[in-house]
Amino acid sequence: MKKIFLSLLVLATVILASCSKNTETLLLLGNVITMDPATPTAEAVFVEDGIIKYVGTADEARKMCDDKTVVKDYGTACIYPGFMEAHTHGILAADRFQQADLTETTYRDDAVMDDYVAAMKQYMDEHPGLPLYKGAGWTIKDKEPTAAMLDAICPDVPMLLNTEDGHSMWVNTAAMKKYGIDAEAVKKYGKDCVRVDANGNPTGYLSENPCIELIAKISMTKDECKKGLLLWQDKAFSYGFTAVAEAGLGLACPEAAEAYQELCDEGLWKLRTYAVVVVDESVPDAKLDSALNHVLEMHNKHNSEYFKVTGTKVFMDGVIEAHTGWMDEEYSDEPGYFGLKRCPESSRVAKIVGFNNKNGMNVHFHSIGDAATRTVVEGIAQAVAETGVKDGRNAVAHLQVVKPELLRKFADYNIIPVVAPLWVGKFPIEYDITRSYIGERAETQYPIKSFYDAGCKVNFHSDFPVSSSMSVPQSIYMATTRTNPSLGAKGIHNPAECITRQQALEAITTNVAYHCHEENRQGSITVGKIANFAVFDTDFLKANLDQVWDAKIKATYIDGKLAYGK
Ligand SMILES: [Zn+2]
Repeated sequence: MKKIFLSLLVLATVILASCSKNTETLLLLGNVITMDPATPTAEAVFVEDGIIKYVGTADEARKMCDDKTVVKDYGTACIYPGFMEAHTHGILAADRFQQADLTETTYRDDAVMDDYVAAMKQYMDEHPGLPLYKGAGWTIKDKEPTAAMLDAICPDVPMLLNTEDGHSMWVNTAAMKKYGIDAEAVKKYGKDCVRVDANGNPTGYLSENPCIELIAKISMTKDECKKGLLLWQDKAFSYGFTAVAEAGLGLACPEAAEAYQELCDEGLWKLRTYAVVVVDESVPDAKLDSALNHVLEMHNKHNSEYFKVTGTKVFMDGVIEAHTGWMDEEYSDEPGYFGLKRCPESSRVAKIVGFNNKNGMNVHFHSIGDAATRTVVEGIAQAVAETGVKDGRNAVAHLQVVKPELLRKFADYNIIPVVAPLWVGKFPIEYDITRSYIGERAETQYPIKSFYDAGCKVNFHSDFPVSSSMSVPQSIYMATTRTNPSLGAKGIHNPAECITRQQALEAITTNVAYHCHEENRQGSITVGKIANFAVFDTDFLKANLDQVWDAKIKATYIDGKLAYGK
């Protein structure tokens, strides 16, 4: 009997030993900034099979190593939790990586609209014979765009150029013919969405709904989408991001969810992605019901470790620079005009939020103008009263103009403000356009500190590829100074809304984890959490701000494995 017991013991020991032999372990040494208030800094992190097992001193961590442990000593460089983004467009990025990139011209202060035409001409020369020419990243410069400007270089093949913000499009005559942008379209969408000339004919400059419908018509195939998504994943890793919210399934590829899912199944997708599905907020009630049920089906179907459908995306309005942000008071340049009301009824917001929250999902709103945001908050308040669900963690993104009396309600109803630190400076062209449309209200735009003061869990977003960068150091610099080095002191915009660096880091780590219901698994370097890290050469909390702006990434880790850098 004793003998049997002994041999069982030996067997158990052998099994245990062989288990530990197969265990993958990693020791990271450096200046560890944990974002865990219990132990804010450490010298070392020890990882076993993708999970953090120890955070503390280098001496203690070394005792846990064996000869198989991978050891990386980053010296004075800083190890942060993997960064998390609350609103990006992986699918749009996948699309943009496969078309002409016009952002370089956009960021040249001296550029004019004709420079975009020249850039497209060059792209055509480099890519002859395409059945369709797509580009993205332009913004209004010296004048409004016209189809004739593009016809001069591309008379026969459709050409469609998306703006930087993704809300407007510049198309040539061949595109208008092919996709039915004509007098009927003017009637259907209105002159704010289909611009017209003195004779009432479309000029080739479109905003909002006709663009969304056009994007659907020129969308990527699933295979193109998968190819582009892998480029997007590399891009996100190169900025130190390990998890993102995808703010719009349904844009640019009808099979986007399948593309993500197949990449997961093939073991190629490791950028944890929390996706919301765009529903058309303008449809009749019965159609809305079936659209919401479809979102729930997708939620149940796509619920894997690296790709989850978490709820619904709703557009409340457009954007101020396209004259379509929905304002409480009239536009300064057009008496009696308040902007585009894409979802004008708070009762409809309540219906959408109620359905999502009751089913364990959340709603992510695009909301720019103060009227749009007021309507969202009223709708969420109504939904909470009706359903009793207080932990919906619904999010409102962009928040360009917000009435102060709404801030407290964000906290009361646990609404996540998703704000854009990269947009807060006084960029001359954008600022002048905004000022001409909404006057004084431009002075208090893009609040951030007010949301912290109200008690909200603020999330940052770059809206990539709407912003051409997702830079963490630049986001921290701009959130704390409200300008950037090239704008300098003159570019400081609404400085009362500067936040601390610690708050800025929370907005790309712990607060986003909370938003995604992942606060027990991600967002900080804490024992038991997933071993996602971003390593930078700079201490974002202590280095001088110029160093922060110029900080360089060294590595990104996913599940304890190197995903970028070295
Ligand atoms: Zn967006």
